[in-house]
Amino acid sequence: MSHLKGLKCRECGKEYPKEALHVCELCFGPLEVSYEYDRIRETLTREAIEKRAPNMWRYRELLPLEGDPSVGAQVGFTPLLRAGNLGRALGVDEIYIKNDAVNFPTLSFKDRVVSVAISRAREMGFDIVACASTGNLANSVAANAAACGMESFVFIPFDLEQTKILGTLVYGGCVVGIKGTYDEVNRLCSEIAGKYGWAFVNINIRPYYAEGSKTYGYEIAEQLGWRFPRHIVVPMAGGSLITKISKAFKELQMLGLVKDAGARVYGAQAAGCSPIVNAVKEGAELIRPVRPNTIAKSLAIGNPADGYYAAKAIRESGGWAENVTDEEIIDAMKLLAETEGVFAETAGGVTLGVTKKLIEQGRIPRNESIVISVTGNGLKTQEALAGKINQPAVINARLSDFDDLIKANGKAYATR
Ligand SMILES: *Cc1c(COP(=O)(O)O)cnc(C)c1O
Ligand SMILES: [Zn+2]
Repeated sequence: MSHLKGLKCRECGKEYPKEALHVCELCFGPLEVSYEYDRIRETLTREAIEKRAPNMWRYRELLPLEGDPSVGAQVGFTPLLRAGNLGRALGVDEIYIKNDAVNFPTLSFKDRVVSVAISRAREMGFDIVACASTGNLANSVAANAAACGMESFVFIPFDLEQTKILGTLVYGGCVVGIKGTYDEVNRLCSEIAGKYGWAFVNINIRPYYAEGSKTYGYEIAEQLGWRFPRHIVVPMAGGSLITKISKAFKELQMLGLVKDAGARVYGAQAAGCSPIVNAVKEGAELIRPVRPNTIAKSLAIGNPADGYYAAKAIRESGGWAENVTDEEIIDAMKLLAETEGVFAETAGGVTLGVTKKLIEQGRIPRNESIVISVTGNGLKTQEALAGKINQPAVINARLSDFDDLIKANGKAYATR
């Protein structure tokens, strides 16, 4: 049974039917999905959720579909791993990695939002899906559209990482590289959505799409034994994920599924594109757009759609925001790989780099629980490491050559 009620303006509260709408006609505020929470509270228990299959649809009452998902039935419930080695390296007691680098099927958290968006688009009668993307959304829309036999149009800045472009083209949809930044791609897509009437997952059906991100938050709480971490660090592009993790935590409290007070939420961006971080640090209400220049291309949104709400969620939780340079991003990607065997994309480097900084600044205490959000896979942003990582030793296929290599490395090994 569906508990989807309708849409509601985040600013003035005007209610709308559950259609493909995203902006309030009265005040131009963004629309958000509303649910029959009273009915959900009566039936949804921890035990009921725990009995369900390990994917994001175990929280289906809190997702905006009227029927069953038509795509992405296996998405979500990625590992939350206790990162002891990383904790020792950072000098903290309790740190976890929520690892969406292994999310199904395209190795980023975007599979959560896309499976909701495409399933909802089908319910509303669309047969073409589209998106404006910084890379991971492109991969996920193309893959999930292919999986359910829908036509897709994907719009990206032309200079994305090669693997992200290839990992979109392979699914056979139409991919369009735009000579411009993501913000220019997004503006064009708003016009195309208006003219062609396709379901742009992150534009005209954004209210439904964005709800998928909540499952990242629900899973963390459940995997911690129905608790919140004291601190959670989240990478920000448009600012949607961090806003929805905060919403997820509030819903779990409201439904009585978690009794904790809440978590402090921290936002992470690259120094080359940190409009939301700037606003938090300056205490500004408005987000000043920037022109992005960073290796963290998946986060390179200069004019973030949910920036205002992201900054608000951070402030209200008692959290903070920080940024890191491209060099710090690479150092953090290596640290995560070397300590925990997790190869995250550049966005993961941003998150860990910022976490390290916040710990050093004393903003995150060393003896309280911390979750870091790894949202994408390092194999997709290999260019960022070009020239920054050692090359393999190359030798002839001769034992004596190997012996020489070991000697040259200076460490002694026992032989027999
Ligand atoms: C899209 C994306 C984010 C954040 O997206 P929001 O627009 O802030 O929701 C974070 N990490 C990765 C890897 C992404 O692709
Ligand atoms: Zn309104």
